[in-house]
Amino acid sequence: MTKVSGKIIIFTAPSGSGKTTLAKHALSLFPQLSFSVSATTRSPREGEMDGRDYYFVSQEQFKSLIADHKLFEYQEVYTHQYYGTLKSELERIWSQDKVALFDIDVKGAFGIEQLKQKNVLTIYIKTSSLDVLRQRLVARHSDSEESIEQRLRRAGEELEYAKYFDYVITNDRLDLAKKMVEVLIEDFLQQPL
Ligand code: 5GP
Repeated sequence: MTKVSGKIIIFTAPSGSGKTTLAKHALSLFPQLSFSVSATTRSPREGEMDGRDYYFVSQEQFKSLIADHKLFEYQEVYTHQYYGTLKSELERIWSQDKVALFDIDVKGAFGIEQLKQKNVLTIYIKTSSLDVLRQRLVARHSDSEESIEQRLRRAGEELEYAKYFDYVITNDRLDLAKKMVEVLIEDFLQQPL
């Protein structure tokens, strides 16, 4: 992992907890933030754009990114589906004097959390139960039944990690969760590097 020289805000959560909605809210509110676009081997979903939502790459290209040490962190989030943060994204964002915002899985976030850097803010988003999570995954119509079951199994494990992060937000009321995110980020942006 490269040295963390600028600021990073990490949103992490079991898939479907609403972290992307909250991350987008933060990005729309704070111009100092810039989204770190990850590389992934999964296929684009409807409406997703290469270079904006993800850099969609082949398994071969991803392997080269690993071999060439171009990734700050990466995980095989689902079987044969790799996701990773590009060092070049961090360099781009920090060179603009902005704060990098990551939307990444729990294990990837945990690895960064373990660096114990004060210029990294980690926010863990959860729902109050796995049932609520299942309802959200079904409602967003973007995953097959098999994929939903895989995500729920993984969510069970990921909940064990909540205690390691700086803050945990239970996102059952989106309006409240947004306010909590605002307060945390406002405070973090004021902290000296
Ligand atoms: P999705 O397929 O729903 O877009 O993402 C699946 C999971 O991978 C989500 O939890 C998402 O936050 C995570 N993810 C996206 N980009 C990265 C990344 O660069 N690194 C890691 N470790 N996880 C990521």
